[in-house]
Amino acid sequence: MKVHLRTLGCRLNQSEIETMARQFVMAGHEVVDSPEQADRIIVNTCAVTQDASHTSRKLVRQMHSASPEAQITVTGCYSQIAPNEIAVLPGVESIVSNQDKDLLAARLTGKPIEFFDREPIERGAPNWAGRTRAFVKVQDGCDNACTFCVTTVARGEGRSRSVERVLSEIRNLLTIGYQEIVLTGVHLGSYGHDFGDKRGLFHLVKAILRDTDARRVRLSSLEPWDLDADFFTLWDDSRLCPHLHLPLQSGCDSTLRRMARRTNQRQFAELVRLARETVEMPCITTDIIAGFPGETDAEFEQSFAFVEALDFAGMHVFRYSRRPGTAAARMRGHVDEAIKKERSARYLALAQEQEAAYARKFAGQALEVLWEHVAGSTEDGFINVGYTANYIRTACIHPRPLTNSLLPVQMDTWNTAKQYMLATPAFEQLLNNEDRE
Ligand code: SF4
Repeated sequence: MKVHLRTLGCRLNQSEIETMARQFVMAGHEVVDSPEQADRIIVNTCAVTQDASHTSRKLVRQMHSASPEAQITVTGCYSQIAPNEIAVLPGVESIVSNQDKDLLAARLTGKPIEFFDREPIERGAPNWAGRTRAFVKVQDGCDNACTFCVTTVARGEGRSRSVERVLSEIRNLLTIGYQEIVLTGVHLGSYGHDFGDKRGLFHLVKAILRDTDARRVRLSSLEPWDLDADFFTLWDDSRLCPHLHLPLQSGCDSTLRRMARRTNQRQFAELVRLARETVEMPCITTDIIAGFPGETDAEFEQSFAFVEALDFAGMHVFRYSRRPGTAAARMRGHVDEAIKKERSARYLALAQEQEAAYARKFAGQALEVLWEHVAGSTEDGFINVGYTANYIRTACIHPRPLTNSLLPVQMDTWNTAKQYMLATPAFEQLLNNEDRE
């Protein structure tokens, strides 16, 4: 079977589709780059916003028109919350629920799921999509009920993979050349709660740092209420990337209450203070929603002032999107689209300023970068782009493409137009040593 895989949305979706790709290859099938070559197409959908649902439908249609004979299997959050809207799309042969997604490749290949644990990953399993960082799913679902969130509706209750399975997958991924491991989940901070370990994520990260030789470990989004002072002691190990993505969603207490978020201004500010006190110059990024139902001008200004004062190093800005099946969708006082646009534009401008200000703090310092791709070339060489451990997007010009290598540079200046830090290579000796080996 020739399989083409596409995914939309979050790192968790990315991690799931990469795992499926490896499983199809392990089962002796071929992963193909274009839908035209495929007998089977897998589409992993997203429903986080109305736009994401629209894009999911559009992608299924595009896959069918590219390959009318191919059978399409759709999975992911959009097909979970609106299966009827997917089932009528051309070419759709099957829909697999989020709960059964981990069994998708096993079902389509007729292999028992245990087969994939047994099979050595290096048996021709491609480093699919040429990635340098491996997104590892450790947890799924969520037991919270934030009123705007469709993910908790689409992904069901919180459930964790065993520590042993996570460690075994990570060891496998390291054997095929991944340099960085990114732990993902819907509600990562609740890892292990379903098997009675309230400090499950702390213990899992400890085990990964102790029992694998991953050069970098990064944590994806963490809900603020899951963390305590002791959690930050994990960063005593320099392999843990000093990057904390802590979704705030709003900087105004009355809005946070309507969102049913289990945090407030005082608690969130205290957590950020603790992180900055314990971890050296951490990169603290966040998510913010503009125009949540009922958000007044005064509430927005309160939120904006709070976000400005916390001085994040990056911010994902979302305009509130009404999602079916969520409590917020039924609330009164939905904000006009033009006002949402205006408020998100102010957050976006602030986000750019804050990201640049954080990166500039490292000018003149030597930092290690995991080079991810080549963004072009000049007469002096390739424009290599990658990320530091503290998540600063960095570029350097070098005669060689450096993709998937971890190499030090001297950080120079922030390029506002390109939104990255320009840096000078500081690794010639390292490369020469490698050449000599
Ligand atoms: S904790 Fe996250 S995934 Fe869970 S309901 Fe809230 S926003 Fe959604």
